[in-house]
Amino acid sequence: MKICVLPGDGIGPEITAEAVRVLKALGLEFEMEEALLGGCAVDATGNPYPEATQKLARAADAVLLGAVGGPQWDNNPREQRPERGLLGIRKDLGLFANLRPAVLYPELANASTLKPEVVAGLDILIVRELTGDIYFGQPRGIETRNGERVGVNTMVYSESEIRRIARVAFEAARKRNRKVCSVDKMNVLECTQLWRDVVIETARDYPDIELSHMLVDNCAMQLVRNPKQFDVVVTGNMFGDILSDEASMLTGSIGMLPSASLDEKNKGLYEPSHGSAPDIAGKGVANPLATILSAAMMLRYTFNNETAANRVENAVKKVLAQGFRTGDIYEPGMKRVGTKEMGDAVLAAL
Ligand code: NAD
Repeated sequence: MKICVLPGDGIGPEITAEAVRVLKALGLEFEMEEALLGGCAVDATGNPYPEATQKLARAADAVLLGAVGGPQWDNNPREQRPERGLLGIRKDLGLFANLRPAVLYPELANASTLKPEVVAGLDILIVRELTGDIYFGQPRGIETRNGERVGVNTMVYSESEIRRIARVAFEAARKRNRKVCSVDKMNVLECTQLWRDVVIETARDYPDIELSHMLVDNCAMQLVRNPKQFDVVVTGNMFGDILSDEASMLTGSIGMLPSASLDEKNKGLYEPSHGSAPDIAGKGVANPLATILSAAMMLRYTFNNETAANRVENAVKKVLAQGFRTGDIYEPGMKRVGTKEMGDAVLAAL
């Protein structure tokens, strides 16, 4: 079980260090090696995704990433920007499935802008296709027609692309509450009519999963009206981009949100949904829980170790119940701790 660890920039090194400590404490036989990605890689080699990192990432079973970016690299030429490293590794590893859970721990229900009774206990998973759709379709561009400018993008999905992301959603549902809601806009877009047809065909291999369909506009409403009706939501790249951000903000706490991006063999890149938080970098106050929960997703989806994944997730629940809070999720009356103390508390809970 080889893990490539990419701490990255800003708070990245602080939060990945805690996730690595948690992984090491599980008593499993991981081989972990660190490499550079993002701004730190640009500084050291001139390349945000250097060759040594490529080699290590390709050879690993899973990648644990902190975050990349920071103001000191914002004016670099495009190919020397930290985000290039992130896009580069996602493309290089063929990661086509993005999994973003939105879990609201009852103890943090006040962090949401929605009423606690609507969101307390929320546990949904958005599965977003990551490499197709209108973001990549051809033709695209801005051209002049009849004397005026016209902007063009093309929404396109092949049945094989739809089938493979549908399978990821059905498999993920098997590790959860066995419900999948597929989101499309089949009343208007032929491309998503095909999406719905292929999802229905694929579902025949998963008779144990309850499949439903929802139009994307309705889904956007249902996510804020009654989000607890969902278990797994599967959708295309553009709808998923928007719905996954909407779903994650139901929880209101950016420092708590993990994510996974998978290839066809369940090799995965695991990272918190937040960025490198340059405003608090180096202060030892960042919340490491999103990264620790990303490590739990790694145990579940790449290493197929549900027991270890649950151990880590239960340890996180326990520290929240014990009242430990980093600054981003702090409420009066709780115990305010820094990054390392939060890691210590998770280790103790393990
Ligand atoms: P951000 O997520 O880094 O920060 C937004 C706010 O949330 C900040 O106030 C920050 O302090 C806080 N925050 C984020 N994570 C936290 C944590 N774990 N604990 C406590 N507080 C936390 O977003 P931003 O400020 O828009 O971007 C900062 C940099 O991160 C930029 O260079 C951006 O390009 C980069 N970025 C990287 C990724 C990634 O690596 N995947 C994602 C988003 C942004």
